[in-house]
Amino acid sequence: MLVLSHAHIDHSGLIPRLVAEGFSGPIWSTPATRDLCTIMLVDSAHIQEYDYAFDARRAKKRGRVPEESGPLYTMDDVAPAMQLFRTADYGEAVGIAPGITLTYTDAGHILGSAAVHLEIDDGERVLKLSFSGDVGRYVDRLLPEPAPFRQADVIICESTYGDRDHAPVAEAEEELLRHVIEVCVDRGGRLIIPAFSIGKTQELLYTLNALSNAGRLPRVPVFVDSPLAISATQIVQQYGQLFRPAVREEMRLDPELFDFPGVEYVRSPDRSKELNTIKKPCIVISASGMMEAGRVRHHLLHGLPDPANGVLAVGFCAPGTLGSALLEGAKEVHILHEQVPVRASVRKMEFYSAHADRGELVRYLKCQNPAKVKRLFLVHGVERSLLALKENLVGQGFKEVSIPRKGERFEL
Ligand SMILES: [Zn+2]
Repeated sequence: MLVLSHAHIDHSGLIPRLVAEGFSGPIWSTPATRDLCTIMLVDSAHIQEYDYAFDARRAKKRGRVPEESGPLYTMDDVAPAMQLFRTADYGEAVGIAPGITLTYTDAGHILGSAAVHLEIDDGERVLKLSFSGDVGRYVDRLLPEPAPFRQADVIICESTYGDRDHAPVAEAEEELLRHVIEVCVDRGGRLIIPAFSIGKTQELLYTLNALSNAGRLPRVPVFVDSPLAISATQIVQQYGQLFRPAVREEMRLDPELFDFPGVEYVRSPDRSKELNTIKKPCIVISASGMMEAGRVRHHLLHGLPDPANGVLAVGFCAPGTLGSALLEGAKEVHILHEQVPVRASVRKMEFYSAHADRGELVRYLKCQNPAKVKRLFLVHGVERSLLALKENLVGQGFKEVSIPRKGERFEL
């Protein structure tokens, strides 16, 4: 069986491939994760097919064979994979195999995200294994705090931001507004915000909606140019009962939390291309967040050479991605096989992270008695974060803290 923590593509993206290669067991997730996967995996298949076709065309033109033998998977592989999904709500204990019980708790990371808790009973002993999935923030705008969980014997914990703290939240709205004013008002340019379609885009829209309600948002058009983000926003809106209580309260006054005057949701590719010809200041929110895939590449291709424009990175960009190259100050980048000069300003805002920071990861594990945790594995982080978090948690009394190498095996 497969137990999925949340819908983000770095966790769910290979499911259609797995099924195409013969996997036929149940795939467990929360209901919201399943709904998000339905749209995300179709989108991912589309990107796979599109990128492959693009590379193949280009290779053919140059008389070469394409680098890849084919897309990782296609649209046709998605529906059979979705049929294998089974859902469990937060807190619901389900037997997923003889002797194995699964319970999800809310991880507060994106809609439907969960930490995975397994009780594995082999007839002699019971092993309690917990996997954090990706841990959200205690100060998320929309989602509740990551939920505490029962004492575990073995924990696998993420560590994306294990080495740093995020800026305080109260400043985020102001900071976003400053970037909008600097680029769109002072320089008359276009502010490109690369954002993951799920989570980040809705937080941005929610914040812009709040600024708009307060009459503080400059009157510039806001384009949400990602069909996936549009579908995701509709799903997020449907699951309003999973928001934090203050937001649910707010929805009674403003039920459309992601809609305000000036927003245009762009679905068609033609309209997306048309955006490049608009000469007026505007905000473009487009995926993907690390700038490696999706429509945002076209916006960057056209937008980066103009010094009036600005790029605002609102999330983690893994080393080696276009996003990280821009943040490191690259003067020229490679986009869709073109060399593009970088004259637009490139800035970064930390708040819109969906990941817990150093202090929050430690807080997340506070529900555990460290003396009772036999092993703690740290994953999902670059080496600096892994090492810093390990040191921190050893200081908190966790004894066996390991950073597994790829391919390493452990007997529990
Ligand atoms: Zn994630």
